[in-house]
Amino acid sequence: MPLQIETLSVHAGKPKPGIRRAVSLPVFQSSTFEYTGETRYDDILYARLSNTPNHVALNAKLAALEGAEAAMVTASGMAAITTSLLTILQPGTHLLAQGGLYGGTHEFVSGELTQLGVEHNWIRGNDPDSWKKQLQENTRAFYVESIANPLMEVPLLEEVVAFAQENNLTSIIDNTFATPVNFRPIDLGFDLVLHSATKYLNGHSDVVAGVLIGTGQLVGEITSRLNHFGAALDPHACFLLDRGLKTLPLRVRFQNESAHRIARFLAAHEAVEKVNYPGLEESQGHVTAHSLFSGYGGMLSFEMTGNSTGIDSFFERLRIPIVAPSLGGVETLAIRPAISTHVGLSVRERKDLGIADRLIRLSVGLEATADLIEDLEQALA
Ligand code: PLP
Repeated sequence: MPLQIETLSVHAGKPKPGIRRAVSLPVFQSSTFEYTGETRYDDILYARLSNTPNHVALNAKLAALEGAEAAMVTASGMAAITTSLLTILQPGTHLLAQGGLYGGTHEFVSGELTQLGVEHNWIRGNDPDSWKKQLQENTRAFYVESIANPLMEVPLLEEVVAFAQENNLTSIIDNTFATPVNFRPIDLGFDLVLHSATKYLNGHSDVVAGVLIGTGQLVGEITSRLNHFGAALDPHACFLLDRGLKTLPLRVRFQNESAHRIARFLAAHEAVEKVNYPGLEESQGHVTAHSLFSGYGGMLSFEMTGNSTGIDSFFERLRIPIVAPSLGGVETLAIRPAISTHVGLSVRERKDLGIADRLIRLSVGLEATADLIEDLEQALA
C-alpha cells in the first residue's frame, strides 16, 4: 500500500541514514559546494541553482505529497507561476485562463505576458462551451485554480483536464487553496501544479516560498529558466518550509472542519447576505468539490447586509482574527479583497467577476472554532 500523506509529510525526501545521524535535516548554509566533475551548468553545486541538500530533500517531499515525479521550490509563489508561464508560453502563443485568478497572476498575464506578445482569454471555469469558442490555433496552455480566490469557485476540473488533453494544451493548476491534503491534481491528469507555499504548505506566516510540480522533464525545463532568473529559495527557508510541511495534514484537516462550521454559522446569521464556501450545498462548485476533494478547505468569504459603516465597525470589533492579507497560517486572518488582494483589477473587472466591495474573506486558522464563532457573533451584532 502506498504511504499515506501523514507519513509522507514527516518522512518523504529525508536522506537515510540522517546526515551525521541527525533526525532533523540540518540547514546547509553554504552558497557553494566542492566541484565534483559536473559537466552541465544546471548541475554545478551552488545554492542559486537550487541543489543544496535542503533543496533536494524538500523537492522530493513536495513531489511525494502531490504524487508527482518531480518538484522545484522557488523564492515565492509568484516566482513559480511566472517562471512556469514564461517557459511554457512563447511570443505568439495564447493562454486560456480562468477569470478572477489571484491578483498577482491576473496582473502578470494581462500585463507582462501581453507585453511579451503572449495573448490570453479569460474563461469561466464552469462553462466548457465558452472554452471551445475561445480556443485558438496558437493556444498552448489552460490555467485554473483549484479553489479560486476570493469567491471560492471550483472550476469543472475533470472537464479542464479532458479539454486540455483533447487540444494538446499544458494543463496548469494553482493548488494553493486546496492543498494536496484535499486534492491532488496530478492524479486527475493535470500536467503542472503550482503553489504559493507561503500559505498552507508552510502554514506559519513566516516564510515566502513557491513550488512547481510535475513530470521530471517539465520541472527540469522550468528549473533551467529559474536558474537564469535567480529566484531560488534560501536553504534556511527550505528548512522552515520542510518543518511546516510535517504538520500539513493535521493543520488542514482541522481548518477544513473549523471553516465548515464557521460557514454554516455565517450562512444562518441574519446580518450575512451570502457565504461562499465549497462545503455549503448552495455554493458554486459544491458538486465538483464534493466529488473530487476530500475536504473543502479553510478559506471562505461572505457579504454582510447593510452599508460600509457596518463593515467598518465589524472590522473594528473583531478581536481574534488579524486584519491582514495572505492566508493559510495558524492565525485567522480577515481582509476585504476589493481594497487589498484584488485592488489591481478595475472596478469593472471586479463587478464582472462578482467581487463586491463589501466582500469579506476569512482564512480560518487553528484557534478554537467556538472562540472564533463567539467573536464573529459579537462583531456582527
Ligand atoms: N497563488 C495564490 C492562490 C495566492 O493566493 C498567492 C498569494 O496570495 C499567490 C499565488 C502568490 O504567492 P506568493 O505571495 O507566495 O508569491
